[in-house]
Amino acid sequence: MTNGTTDTTSTTRTVAAYAAQHPDAPLAKTTVTRRAVGEHDIVIDIKFSGICHSDIHQVGEDWGTGIFPMVPGHEIAGVVSEVGPGVTRWKAGDRVGVGCFVDSCRECDNCRAGLQQYCTGEDGLVFTYNGTGRDGLPTYGGYSSELVIDEAYALSIPDSLPLDAAAPLLCAGITLYSPLAHWGAGPGKKVAIVGLGGLGHMGVKFAHAMGAEVTVLSQSLRKREDGLKLGADHYRATSDPATFSELAGSFDLIVNTVSADLDLSAYLGLLRTDGTLVQVGMPEKPVTVHPYPMALGRRSLSGSMIGGLPETQEMLDFCGEHGITSEIELIRADEINEAYRRVLAGDVRFRFVIDASTI
Ligand code: NAP
Ligand code: ZN
Ligand code: ZN
Repeated sequence: MTNGTTDTTSTTRTVAAYAAQHPDAPLAKTTVTRRAVGEHDIVIDIKFSGICHSDIHQVGEDWGTGIFPMVPGHEIAGVVSEVGPGVTRWKAGDRVGVGCFVDSCRECDNCRAGLQQYCTGEDGLVFTYNGTGRDGLPTYGGYSSELVIDEAYALSIPDSLPLDAAAPLLCAGITLYSPLAHWGAGPGKKVAIVGLGGLGHMGVKFAHAMGAEVTVLSQSLRKREDGLKLGADHYRATSDPATFSELAGSFDLIVNTVSADLDLSAYLGLLRTDGTLVQVGMPEKPVTVHPYPMALGRRSLSGSMIGGLPETQEMLDFCGEHGITSEIELIRADEINEAYRRVLAGDVRFRFVIDASTI
């Protein structure tokens, strides 16, 4: 059952969605057209869609000009309702997730290596929304009742995970899992997660499950109890200057999820020799870093973006094995604008998820 109706004359389908018509406009109910089901396409009956801070950045054009109307949403969990004639991986009823991209060139070195998120092909990565599909039409995201995508770009959600709390794994989850896995978070490693929001709380859960000693670096101690329950061993306030003197030189890995303009030089000083600070929060403007703390201790500053298809599946399977999901607040679609305001005010523990049946 969906809110969409199938347009039998063209075989495209008109589906219910929530969209911003202009930058910064409130999101409102509308309809969008999904492409006809191709040979290798599947139709997903969207059940839940997470609200990522990146949705707010893109609706507000923080990162550049957006494509409007914009239907955000790249933390999608649903059930396959229809498959194209050439589909081999899925059947109706399968539980699937879709993250930040719905296609890529499939031929560049990165695509061949399963690092689709770093696709260097001419047309590059096709983002789930605010992008342009191979058909030249704008892509529309998960704040919607149905999605039509190529079967290769859907992921399997383990049966043990509830779909609502699994939805945020498709962006927040993989964005933290990937750098933690890449830089070897595990037993004997000290890891700090900066910012306990949608991304940060997943980082705490993953780093803890991987066996690392985890410290949350948050603006205040307001969410300390939650942080410790999520698996943090230590919780320190970055507003307290003693945090930076007492923890100097102590971490192997720091993952910064904050999009505000932090003093990254100060955070680099918290790393051990050869430690790495990984930036996943995406500020609007370039940040300034002093080279001294990098030179004094051969420390690195790096970045990381979501994850490729194989690693996203690996992350979902890891979540299935370890019983990991996101901490969510389920909302109706008519509460999206209020949820945006609350994310901006830091008033969310820890991810809003839209019940797509209310779209
Ligand atoms: P979020 O839920 O709003 O969490 C961000 C956290 O940053 C807040 O909970 C807060 O944690 C901290 N924070 C906020 N304002 C701050 C300030 N002025 N100074 C210091 N800390 C502040 O956002 P999110 O969904 O986790 O996304 C975080 C960032 O990652 C966004 O920029 C988003 O676009 C980006 N992102 C990147 C990728 C990627 O692939 N690289 C993927 C998804 C999202 P405390 O209260 O604990 O300090
Ligand atoms: Zn996201
Ligand atoms: Zn590619």
